[in-house]
Amino acid sequence: MVSQVVSKFGGTSMGDADCMRRSAEVAAQRNSRLVVVSATSGTTNDLILLGKTAQSGQWPESEALLQKIRSRHEGIGNDLGITSEQKARLAEVLEEAESIARGIFLLRDCSLKAMDTLMSLGERLSSILFSKAMSEALKNKSATTPVRWLDAREVLRTDDQFGKAKAATEEISKLCREKWADLIQAQAVGVTQGFIGSTEEGATTTLGRGGSDYSAALLAEGLSADILEIWTDVPGIATTDPRICSLAKPIEEISFKEASELATFGAKVLHPATLLPAIRRNIPVFVGSSFDAGQRGTWVRREVKEAPLIRALALRRKQVLVTLSTPEMLHAHGFLAKIFRVFDDHKVSVDAITTSEISVSLTLEDSALLNKRLLQDLSQFADVKTEENLTLISLIGNSINHTPGLGKRIFDAIGDINVRMICLGASKHNFCFLVDGDKADEAIRRLHRSFIET
Ligand code: ADP
Ligand code: ASP
Ligand code: MG
Repeated sequence: MVSQVVSKFGGTSMGDADCMRRSAEVAAQRNSRLVVVSATSGTTNDLILLGKTAQSGQWPESEALLQKIRSRHEGIGNDLGITSEQKARLAEVLEEAESIARGIFLLRDCSLKAMDTLMSLGERLSSILFSKAMSEALKNKSATTPVRWLDAREVLRTDDQFGKAKAATEEISKLCREKWADLIQAQAVGVTQGFIGSTEEGATTTLGRGGSDYSAALLAEGLSADILEIWTDVPGIATTDPRICSLAKPIEEISFKEASELATFGAKVLHPATLLPAIRRNIPVFVGSSFDAGQRGTWVRREVKEAPLIRALALRRKQVLVTLSTPEMLHAHGFLAKIFRVFDDHKVSVDAITTSEISVSLTLEDSALLNKRLLQDLSQFADVKTEENLTLISLIGNSINHTPGLGKRIFDAIGDINVRMICLGASKHNFCFLVDGDKADEAIRRLHRSFIET
């Protein structure tokens, strides 16, 4: 039986007509059943800027942004020679962009809900264009299977947390089986949008920045796919971000557990939630470069042959360290419950945590500080101190909490770089610590040299 493959192509793989053609050739060659695409590179950022510009009452600047988005997509459409039906669909979405921007401008209000609809236009535009590239690629292969453009919102059900909606996984699988049965029966190749979803009431939502990887995984789960492919601008998951360390090299094979830690602790190559559906259904995930599909790439699987002590390094920037101190914590109980209730009420996630006799320190994304009520609510229980511009560095591998001498090797490698907080013990796959933001790249390069290059 032929494998069911779901492939996702990121923004750079959608960059222009050539990128789309190249990506479509890859998808056709791999017999993809469903192709999930991101917005063309830069478009989501432009749409966010458009929302903010219109909200601040700058109409001429908003029009200029609309024009930039329009000409980018019309230009790619012309290069690809899209059909008149596709042209009409493109024009409709571009008109919608203008109407939403005008609404935001008139009301001087860009709610998270409006922003989600605005951002969804990026993927809706790119997917129309890509369906043309996909039909051409299949024709070149003499395949007769038709391409079906699909609105992901038909099946990708979420709650109404606009900006970072939570996926309703069982509902998604049920809707995939009901509405996209022709894909399952291999009667069509689907092209759809990543990143976007819809509530039961039909409001458009998004899964958070970089969420197309997660969409593809949810749809792979829904279609009971055998393989999920993530095609991007680097030839696989590397030992660290190649933009920081030129000697970073692609990893051939990595376990679900290690790759999940890597994604959660900042490796942008995979959205942090991507592997959850793959783990649930045991779907192997391939990560490769759409620019050079012949390269080996990375396989992420449940079982792997090797389990090195340190497989890769990740970093998460823009962290804030919040320290809460109170003598009441001394020999008392329930303090952590109280403070975590506050984080829960504000829907803020805590990344790393350490405690001492009368204080607890934890790290958050610095955007959490935009919510002034959070700090006010915390200060009801404790004295609150914050330190900003920190970066969480993680070493990811195996048996990390059972290896004597590892701490010494790590701190010898980073030398005089001050470590503000350490987290070890919760996972055998991760050792992480916090450093000053402007020392982070240097720390990564030194650790890479010490643990991976030698
Ligand atoms: P896409 O638009 O295809 O989703 P992203 O920009 O979201 O692509 O992710 C790919 C980028 O992730 C790479 O260009 C690279 O700079 C960055 N990255 C960070 N850590 C890693 C890593 N460990 N391996 C590979 N790429 C990484
Ligand atoms: N286009 C969205 C973003 O830029 C989603 C994605 O690319 O994964 O965040
Ligand atoms: Mg991405």
